[in-house]
Amino acid sequence: MGRKFVVGGNWKMNGDKNQINEIVNNLKKGPLDPNVEVIVGVPAIYLSYVKTIIPDNVEVAAQNCWKSPKGAFTGEISPAMIKDVGVNWVILGHSERRTIFGEKDELVAEKVAHALESGLKVIACIGETLEERESGKTEEVVFRQLKALVSAIGDKWENIVLAYEPVWAIGTGKTATPQQAQDVHHALRNWLSANVSGSVSDAVRIQYGGSVTAANAKELASCKDIDGFLVGGASLKPEFVEIVNANQ
Ligand code: PEP
Repeated sequence: MGRKFVVGGNWKMNGDKNQINEIVNNLKKGPLDPNVEVIVGVPAIYLSYVKTIIPDNVEVAAQNCWKSPKGAFTGEISPAMIKDVGVNWVILGHSERRTIFGEKDELVAEKVAHALESGLKVIACIGETLEERESGKTEEVVFRQLKALVSAIGDKWENIVLAYEPVWAIGTGKTATPQQAQDVHHALRNWLSANVSGSVSDAVRIQYGGSVTAANAKELASCKDIDGFLVGGASLKPEFVEIVNANQ
């Protein structure tokens, strides 16, 4: 086993240079647990800037990319461009991409496959809506999202972190209970074991995302199948350091 704890901060469409400087200074001050991989998801226009100021113990991620290297896709960026500015990670399939921008499972999976082929590491997000949870469809939905990913990438999971983010918990202040999160993470691991391989199921890191704060991170981190967090709102605040260190 030995899955390294991994905490991502998703800044979404927030921050200007002043705020970014503050966030980065806070990360520099830390101290950040050296046993945790830390990644910040930065708006595309600031990727190059952040690369010049971020400390070595923090990785940078884009928040989206397209599924081909170049061409007539106005407004998009490609994995090749992300790599070209020295960034090694991308967040794909975030629920805001799926709900606001209409990205379907197949498109997300194609993007993940192309990003991996281009040498990026990927935080791939999945999760159910409130309506889906309340009608007992949580597993059906997350398994469907996983199945699309597996159709596109097969057993190539070395460079993927999976983020389970129940949509009803994102930006709402409602966190899944540790038991709710653990149950889904465990089910995801079982599904991967049955449909990909035991070794992928054991090795893949599964983050929980949805209103994680310094106040709830420790209890969530203590769950067996929770290997880190994807953090939105709180990643803009000084408490992000406490969240990174929640597994200590
Ligand atoms: C997210 O954007 O991935 C997220 C989990 O947001 P928040 O922590 O604000 O709920």
